[in-house]
Amino acid sequence: MKEFEKIEIVERFPQGDNFKHGVLYYNKVIRMLKYFCPCGKCEQKEALAIADTFDRAQRLWSLEINEGKATVQASVGSGNQCKSHYFIQDNVIL
Ligand SMILES: [Zn+2]
Repeated sequence: MKEFEKIEIVERFPQGDNFKHGVLYYNKVIRMLKYFCPCGKCEQKEALAIADTFDRAQRLWSLEINEGKATVQASVGSGNQCKSHYFIQDNVIL
């Protein structure tokens, strides 16, 4: 996958089949971003704790949404088997 389709701002994360690949879900209540790992293979969900500024030591990321497109600071290194490491910039996976 090269790009997330969209970001959805939710108050509760969707469950089961309602949680779609290619969608970033931002829970504004608990400030958590969740999505399927973009590698497309490991089928693991990623969960990022969001703060006003990213803080690597505390594993906090920052999230900016512009015209429906999400940018996350800093990069995400997945602890999944796939060992993905990527940036999300305007929904695009770099
Ligand atoms: Zn993966």
